[in-house]
Amino acid sequence: MTQLVWFRNDLRVSDHSALTETCQGHDSEVKAIFLWTPEQWQQHDYGLARQYSIRSALVTLARDLAQLGIPLTILHAKTWMSGVDQLIGFARTHKVSQLAFHREFGWDEVQRDQYAINQTREAGMETWIGEDRVGFDPATLLTRQGEMYRVFTPFKKRWLSQHAETPLAAPLPVPSPTGPEVSELPDIPEVNWPGSAELPLNEHEAHDHLSEFSKTMPDYKTLRDLPATEGTSRLSAALASGAISLRQCMHSAFSHPNVDSAGVQTWLSELIWREFYHYLLYWRPEIARHKPFYPRWDAFPWQQDETALHRWQQGQTGVPIVDAGMRQLVQTGWMHNRVRMIVAMYLVKLLKIDWRQGERWFAQQLLDIDLASNNGGWQWCASTGVDAAPYFRIFNPYTQSERFDPQGSYIRRWVPELASVPAAAIHKPTQQLAQHMGYSQPLVDYKRARAETLAFFKKL
Ligand SMILES: Cc1cc2nc3c(=O)[nH]c(=O)nc-3n(C[C@H](O)[C@H](O)[C@H](O)COP(=O)(O)OP(=O)(O)OC[C@H]3O[C@@H](n4cnc5c(N)ncnc54)[C@H](O)[C@@H]3O)c2cc1C
Repeated sequence: MTQLVWFRNDLRVSDHSALTETCQGHDSEVKAIFLWTPEQWQQHDYGLARQYSIRSALVTLARDLAQLGIPLTILHAKTWMSGVDQLIGFARTHKVSQLAFHREFGWDEVQRDQYAINQTREAGMETWIGEDRVGFDPATLLTRQGEMYRVFTPFKKRWLSQHAETPLAAPLPVPSPTGPEVSELPDIPEVNWPGSAELPLNEHEAHDHLSEFSKTMPDYKTLRDLPATEGTSRLSAALASGAISLRQCMHSAFSHPNVDSAGVQTWLSELIWREFYHYLLYWRPEIARHKPFYPRWDAFPWQQDETALHRWQQGQTGVPIVDAGMRQLVQTGWMHNRVRMIVAMYLVKLLKIDWRQGERWFAQQLLDIDLASNNGGWQWCASTGVDAAPYFRIFNPYTQSERFDPQGSYIRRWVPELASVPAAAIHKPTQQLAQHMGYSQPLVDYKRARAETLAFFKKL
């Protein structure tokens, strides 16, 4: 008999409960499978960056599994549903008795998994399903009224009290080998993403990076808003593909010698924001279908301005901090969180372009694209979401730039046209200076655009 582990967004061998469950206590052969589904990813707006990130984690996973005596098979399918049919065919051929995987949230993910469960049952196999994306089952973390949380702070309190009562299990070690090393590795498609990643993408890199980051974790609160500084963990792509687990990150914070420092506590808080958005996706999977959390905001008269959208995407808006962020995104598949908020507010509240256009562009460009966090981030900035920024909160990109990139170092790195401009002039170059440096003129006037948006929101 054979046991099969289905890898999805959990591309690692340590702290992998489905793998551990499959390897321990069974004498049967263990195999692993992954569905390579570029068309399905495209339907979700996931671009080459995300495929590149998956590929990078998969290459390492295949090697690590081979050392454990477990062959990884890559099945190529157009969609998840046809992939499940192939997976069941594979399972029948190899006389699989149990299929193990981790649960995922999201509209299509839930349909896929229900189909897989039904097909597995029909084929006479068992299924084993574990929790991996989040710390606690979302169905167990409810308000006193028995409802989902819509506000972050009480959610965080509840999450932490749950953790105090029943701490997250310590991360699992890598299972012992189940047989001799497998010599043949699967062919994993090349992905020609033109960017250059500055993030850890596979399991080994992610762990090295986490132990480096834990040295500065106590300073996270002061450093995290400065885009020119490497003050954040940059683990988002590894968390999205599952090259590192949430439990491993949480464990490194909770067991940190300075766990009570503001820095470590703030980092924990950010991980809990990730939980918050994943729980929302669990309770309201329709947000995966581009619906605002509060439908009243659908009436906002979004502008159809292809030129402005294109200039925003390419980092040619004439606002240096916005352009720096958008260029960092395209070139490296990642953008600093503070700058994500600035560019998102700029698109939605100053260009008045539908937040879903921004959500889609981010999905196409990010290595760390994660439906729940991306949607949560966009709906927060657009004020259409749960516990979002109030509608009248509109970031002034120029003052944000002065505050968080005071020397202009971040701008200089990503907007080389302005490399020689001194700090005092770099945040808002004059018309003459921009012309002289070959830099774009601003797409909109901040004050006028802000006033128009406020007027629209007030009408709603
Ligand atoms: C418009 C917008 C879109 C975003 N899209 C994504 C996305 O697709 N994928 C993604 O992982 N994050 C997204 N974020 C959240 C955040 O910007 C990134 O998680 C963070 O910049 C990743 O860098 P880091 O790993 O160094 O984070 P750190 O600051 O080191 O935080 C550690 C981890 O906590 C989680 N996290 C941190 N901040 C947030 C947050 N505000 N919301 C949810 N999770 C958070 C991430 O998993 C991150 O890796 C988005 C934010 C905004 C404003």
